[in-house]
Amino acid sequence: MFISDNLSVNEEGHLTVSGADTVELAEKYGTPLYVMDENLLRENCRSFKSSIDKYYGGNGLVCFASKAFCCKAMCRLALEEGIGLDVASIGELYTALSVGFSPEKLCFHGNNKTDEEIRYALESRIGHIVVDNVYELNRLNELAEESGIVANIMYRIKPGIDAHTHSFIMTGQIDSKFGFALETGEAYEAVKKALSLKNIRLVGLHCHIGSQIFDIDPFVKAAEVMLDFIAKIKDELGYETEQLDLGGGFGIRYTDEDNPVGYDKYMERVSARVKEICREKNLKQPFILIEPGRSIAGPAGLTLYKAGGKKTIPNIRTYVSIDGGMGDNPRYALYQSKYDAVVANKAGLERTETITLAGKCCETGDLIGEGMKIQPVEVGDIIAVLATGAYNYSMSSNYNRIPKPAVVFVNGDSSRVVVKRETLEDIVRNDVE
Ligand SMILES: *Cc1c(COP(=O)(O)O)cnc(C)c1O
Repeated sequence: MFISDNLSVNEEGHLTVSGADTVELAEKYGTPLYVMDENLLRENCRSFKSSIDKYYGGNGLVCFASKAFCCKAMCRLALEEGIGLDVASIGELYTALSVGFSPEKLCFHGNNKTDEEIRYALESRIGHIVVDNVYELNRLNELAEESGIVANIMYRIKPGIDAHTHSFIMTGQIDSKFGFALETGEAYEAVKKALSLKNIRLVGLHCHIGSQIFDIDPFVKAAEVMLDFIAKIKDELGYETEQLDLGGGFGIRYTDEDNPVGYDKYMERVSARVKEICREKNLKQPFILIEPGRSIAGPAGLTLYKAGGKKTIPNIRTYVSIDGGMGDNPRYALYQSKYDAVVANKAGLERTETITLAGKCCETGDLIGEGMKIQPVEVGDIIAVLATGAYNYSMSSNYNRIPKPAVVFVNGDSSRVVVKRETLEDIVRNDVE
């Protein structure tokens, strides 16, 4: 009936998440409200983790891509689940360290890390830094020298696989701002360079081929391309890297049109192929990292809004306006991402209306979805937009000076605020005059 098994309808006809009544949550905490199912977050961490245990002898690490959903409570949850974190800015790194995250389980990404970020990462003794380009490599070497540290690094490699859609293509020269190209020899030269630098230790190679990918083939192909490169480095330079990071990008269900595969299927296929290639090419089996972001946080979240207006434009469409919008969920405005919405207080009814769900910001493009099939809506109803756990709170802004919603974790009957709703004072807190 709903896109995710943790959602249901209770006797009052209200939508429930992890057994909690969403209408009661909206009354208790106000709207708009981000709601995260804590059990599902944990379950998702565990299924990736156990897939490495089951198919790859535990010789790897899940690093949650914190940009998908970063706050102290999430970092703490990842810590408790024994997984690592991928951070891509000083703010994400700070958040992780502020809950006592084990620094060796952190990796730092980004295509333009500042000196401040590099110094902070080095001083915090994080596991490794994923280096994006030679400028960064040289700068990192200098800053590591200053701090008297040898920096563990990986290289971000462009494996020449484009998997942004339901299928994938191998491109000759992939056009991306991230990483080193393989086919031009850029990556190979960079490896030589890293091996010559005193304060750098190359521990592995990294790639990340896209996001919301449903097909397993591109991941297998990426592993093949990366292992070929590892073998080339070993043969020609006599150096064998120990780790292989295959990134994230595993697809989730936003609407009925999406059919994700089970999370353990990736490691099942990838592990088998990695083991095979390592045998053929006489390589050690690398320690494998994966970086799921969306697939851990996305399905666990939903956003509750209150409907404040309804406008039917004859023969065109019906707009329903909510008390949030692109400030708390910019994904439709950014990429026309599709979402499913439910009238939370009438969740048991049939979806007889087709609406455009509009936000309250001063932008025509401030929509959450168009052509959405939904139960009959009236002003005052609570609307739940589903699968908003990733790239919503983390992408939120204060456009129109709208305070950001609170984030609540639910766990069966209990719920708690993990991020407070912003106040009007918060809105002006940095205005100095
Ligand atoms: C964004 C990102 C991820 C996570 O991607 P998802 O699609 O959310 O799984 C992982 N690794 C890197 C380097 C990323 O930039």
